[in-house]
Amino acid sequence: MADGLTKERVLEMLQKVKGPDQTNDIVSLGLVSEIVINNGKVYFSISVEPGKARELEPMRAAAEEVVKRIDGVKSVMVTLTADREPGSASNGAGQASGGSCQTKPGGAPGMPGGKLDLPNIGAIIAVASGKGGVGKSTTAINLALAFKANGLKTGILDADIYGPSLPRLVGLGGQNPKQAPDGQSLEPMQAYGLEVMSIGFLVEEDAPMIWRGPMVMSALTQMLQYVTWGELDVLVVDMPPGTGDAQLTLSQAVPLAGAVIVSTPQDLALIDARKGLNMFRQVQVPVLGIIENMSYFICPSCGERSDIFGHGGAREEAQKIDTNFLGEIPLEMKIRETSDAGKPIVATDPDSPHARAYRDIAKAAWAQIEANRERAKLRTPKIVMES
Ligand code: ADP
Repeated sequence: MADGLTKERVLEMLQKVKGPDQTNDIVSLGLVSEIVINNGKVYFSISVEPGKARELEPMRAAAEEVVKRIDGVKSVMVTLTADREPGSASNGAGQASGGSCQTKPGGAPGMPGGKLDLPNIGAIIAVASGKGGVGKSTTAINLALAFKANGLKTGILDADIYGPSLPRLVGLGGQNPKQAPDGQSLEPMQAYGLEVMSIGFLVEEDAPMIWRGPMVMSALTQMLQYVTWGELDVLVVDMPPGTGDAQLTLSQAVPLAGAVIVSTPQDLALIDARKGLNMFRQVQVPVLGIIENMSYFICPSCGERSDIFGHGGAREEAQKIDTNFLGEIPLEMKIRETSDAGKPIVATDPDSPHARAYRDIAKAAWAQIEANRERAKLRTPKIVMES
């Protein structure tokens, strides 16, 4: 018998769990994915047939339960994944999360309007970028804090599955979310007055991970559905960078109120930003606008401003492609230092001009959401009851 927390030990325990045929175990049926173990946290998925997720929830729960019994296990996350049905369109992998939802092209079946049903959450806003390294995560956390500072109950979900940085950005690295009393869900973590969840609480930021498409989607939808989010006015989702299948599928499965696109001023980045914009338009998610990050540089010693990347590209581009320009954030040492130290600037230096800039951007984004809601109301025909 394998001792301690090893992949072999996890597989050995999983042999106790019967598969959908109620005869063979899930390991010998070949349903268990790659097992990721990191610091006592265990993550894997079980393949199920599309459409069977809900009825196989007890199997998922049983798998979680047996793995929890292994010495040294701090947390376990098991998701059900359904590979895309043959012949379906090519917008990303289908998935099934936590036994209750599946995403196929066109949305999440079984959910109103083909989307996940998240009644506690007033508005979900995606923060996206056409490519990595433009400051998307830094913008997402500071924007979430700015929504909170503007009086909204706010949460943030780090869906950047390929490089989850939120635990570090809010100083919660190495910590684990608590299991909720229902035994199935996780409680969100708390930081600076925000509710916070990230796949990074389960696996380390730099852990080598081979994510298969379905695993990515199921982890994301599980973090939305199986986290006991409180009543939130807004949930900011830090999206994975780029405009591939994972982003498209996520945009379809999650009822997004809107998306903001973070871009640096370089033209190249703007071409990528345009791709992001088109992706959201394709799935009818309103783009609230573009944020220009690392927009200009203020010299820390002389205070002189330099437009090192050719400032203003995003504002012009926003006009050209008929979207809003939400604002600009300079390239600023303090923003980088506070991020790296887990002390985001909007929370720790709220009187700084940069914190003010983020709050103004949050105000502009929220105004767009409210305007879209008003427009939607006008489009809904009124039913007049005659007495
Ligand atoms: P992404 O999520 O797009 O990959 P990050 O938010 O992780 O990007 O940012 C990449 C790096 O750039 C980080 O070290 C971060 O601290 C830094 N950074 C982001 N925005 C700014 C800014 N406005 N000024 C200075 N540094 C920044």
